[in-house]
Formats: sequence, C-alpha cells, structure tokens
Amino acid sequence: MQICNVQIHSACKPLHGPKCPQHALPATVRTCTLTPPRSSILSSKHTHLVCAAKGFGIEKPKTKQTGKASQAPVLEDPCPCQSGKTYKNCCQKVHLGNKAKNVEAALRARFSAFVKGQQDYIKATTHRDYFDFHYMKPQAEAAPQFDADVHCACSRVEYSDFKVTQVEPGSNDLEGFVAFAYKHASKDKAAEPEAWSVTNQKCRFLKVDDMWQFVDYQTYDYNMSQLAQDVKPEQLQK
Ligand SMILES: [Zn+2]
Repeated sequence: MQICNVQIHSACKPLHGPKCPQHALPATVRTCTLTPPRSSILSSKHTHLVCAAKGFGIEKPKTKQTGKASQAPVLEDPCPCQSGKTYKNCCQKVHLGNKAKNVEAALRARFSAFVKGQQDYIKATTHRDYFDFHYMKPQAEAAPQFDADVHCACSRVEYSDFKVTQVEPGSNDLEGFVAFAYKHASKDKAAEPEAWSVTNQKCRFLKVDDMWQFVDYQTYDYNMSQLAQDVKPEQLQK
C-alpha cells in the first residue's frame, strides 16, 4: 500500500477527506498542497477582527462600582466661626435663641450669621447707637439702608479665615471689646475677580436686656496683594 507524505489541513478535510486528493491515499504526514477553503480563512480573520475590536468599538465590560463615595460618612457643616465645632453645635444655637454668653461668642455668632444669611439675628444684635455711628442718622431713618446693607453683605459677599485676635473687658460688665480678622470677597467673580481683602476690626459690644449688641468699631482694611503676611493685632489701633 502506498502512503502519501501529505498532511491534510484540518480545514481541508471536509473537501477531500482524510486522504490526499492527489493520490487518493491516506494522508499521514507533512504538508497539504491544497489551499484551505476560503470560508475557513474568512472565519479565522473574522475571529481576529472581533478580538481586535474589543479594545475599541466594542463596549468594555463595566467594572463593578465599589460604592465607596456613597458609603462615605456625611461631614457635618463646620461652623463659620472656626471654632472647630459643627454649626449645629455652635453658632446655630445662638441664632435659634440661646443667648451668647460673652462678647466673643456674640461676635462669633454675628460673623456666622453673615455667612449663613441670618439677617434677623444681625439686626437683633445691632445696637441703636450703631445707626448714628455708621450712617449718622437715627435708627428709624437709617433702617432701610441698613436692611439693604445687611442683605448685600449676606448674599453678595463670601467670607473665610475668621480669627478672634483679642478680647478686652469694657468699663463695666455691660461693655466688652473683641478684635478679629477675616477675609472677604465679592461672590461676583466676573466683576471682581481679584477682590479678596482682609479686614481687621475691633468691635465694641453693649449688653442690652441680657443680649450683647454690636455698637461701633475701629477697622483697618487692606488688599491681600499688598501683604506678605497677616496684619498683626497691634496694628488695629493705628
Ligand atoms: Zn460658631
């Protein structure tokens, strides 16, 4: 029996069977001289194309979401007065009716009120003499302008870096002074993009009906771009 030395491609087998078509003999070794059917080549190419496309046109398998962001603990709102407490456990109590226990607490609550838009608290803790001091008008006459100013200060200004720098007793138990610094800027960045300023202020408070009220102040404003560092409290008096 004659043996052909041609090995048949597996793809060729459906066409010519296990035997070499040239010799009509069982094929056992080496190379088939026939071209594999085109359908099998296309099939092979198609497989490669599909594999290549997996990195591009075919949608990548979605990675499983860990859900870490949604599981993160919700941070409580820090108090604007920089006490390190939450707003709920600090100045909000005063805004809701608790009396400020001293001038520092009163000042902190007023600053937080500007940040939080607590306009009623700001008005309630403004002494009647403030209107003569600031507007040079009696309270009734200056009230509309004062209301507009408070609204503007609450809605159009942003504040940060609040810091109490000094607390001084007054001439009696119904008077007190507190100095502080803070940064402020217009919220309208399009109109005033470089408007961050620092204010140092020393305020006088008087206690009226068991409530500390802001009366008047000395202040020193300066532009941040003119400074290498914060102005020191002793400069307040100049
Ligand atoms: Zn506070």
